[in-house]
Amino acid sequence: MKSINDISFAGKKVLLRVDFNVPVDEHKNITDDTRMRESMPTIKKLLADGAAIIIMAHFGRPKNGFDPELSLAPVAKHLSEMIGRPVLFTQDLLGDKVTAMAAGLKAGDVMLLENIRFYPGETKGDVALAEQLSKLGDCYINDAFGAAHREHSSTAVIARFFPNDKYFGFLMENEVRNLEKLMQNPQRPFTAIIGGSKVSSKIGILENLLDKVDNMVIIGGMRYTFTKALGGKIGKSICEDDKMDLALELMRRMDEKGVKYYLPTDSLIADNFSNDANTQLVPSNQVPDEWESMDIGPESSKMLDEVIKASKTILWNGPAGVFEIPAFSKGTQAIAKSVAEACANGTFAAVGGGDSVAAVKQLNLADQMSYVSTGGGAMLEYLEGKTLPGIAAIMD
Ligand code: ADP
Ligand code: MG
Repeated sequence: MKSINDISFAGKKVLLRVDFNVPVDEHKNITDDTRMRESMPTIKKLLADGAAIIIMAHFGRPKNGFDPELSLAPVAKHLSEMIGRPVLFTQDLLGDKVTAMAAGLKAGDVMLLENIRFYPGETKGDVALAEQLSKLGDCYINDAFGAAHREHSSTAVIARFFPNDKYFGFLMENEVRNLEKLMQNPQRPFTAIIGGSKVSSKIGILENLLDKVDNMVIIGGMRYTFTKALGGKIGKSICEDDKMDLALELMRRMDEKGVKYYLPTDSLIADNFSNDANTQLVPSNQVPDEWESMDIGPESSKMLDEVIKASKTILWNGPAGVFEIPAFSKGTQAIAKSVAEACANGTFAAVGGGDSVAAVKQLNLADQMSYVSTGGGAMLEYLEGKTLPGIAAIMD
């Protein structure tokens, strides 16, 4: 893998794809610029080299071409403040004006193209659009890991017009290196901790990991499908009855492959789905009718602490309980602390998934994990064993 660190982009016009799909409030103020900050190292490197940058980004999901509501204008303004220099921005779509603006760029200039999804061809991976974009610059850098699972014109197809001048940005490079470390050559024992609300959304991940891990910890709401399939009483806990056979099949395959699997043994249950519900701790397979499991209990946290501390590699996706409600966040917090302590002792731990990452950030433990993925959907698809078009386009 070539790193942009080893290359000077002096005098080049760099086409840079980023993920600037940031949340905004009703006045179009950016409420969280994390995604923009994550691509700053790449942007700063290019500016330090003396490159001109043409940034491509998407914003929301436009349906029919140009839509002023989904303009990148607020992002252009914010980006300019972040880098302390003007950002050239035109609401014009590709055409003479944009071509002329790109042609006139000098070293240190930054230009942001309007929302790339205003072109219907973008999400279809249109080759003509990719070619048109490619003519604006001399080389292509992809730093949009959050969109790496999409085969769009600006995230993947465009790379074929730069066979010798296509690179990962620093954010993408870091994601790819960490994902490879995790899945291609993990130090053992390798433990996966998979949770969340639904088995159905994690089938691909569970199946792909079966062949790779030594231990599988199944937590969150989805474990109740397993527990019910094993004959346990789960009360009103979340369950997908039509996935019980699959749960049994997965456990059979884990036995066959010698993968040790762990289901938490105690549950914190509630009589309704709220922070002030009545609660009790019960064995996980003895949840009374009318009660619902919301989190793992302390006995389980202790058991998982031991599994976690004995692991050299950890992948964690999916909270242990309904962490959004403070009364049911303790199990997720305990796991996060155990993983952080393991990392301090040399374990490599990766955390991924939109809610899981939100949970470790909420707990202020994100910087104690070896690696927290920035791409929700992209990371999950990678864990399912799929090839991500945005990665493949640069690698081949
Ligand atoms: P990620 O986004 O990290 O992949 P998921 O989307 O799969 O995670 O799952 C997160 C959701 O799972 C959270 O909204 C959380 O409230 C829910 N959840 C966890 N445990 C339970 C439970 N016992 N009952 C109901 N929902 C749960
Ligand atoms: Mg989620």
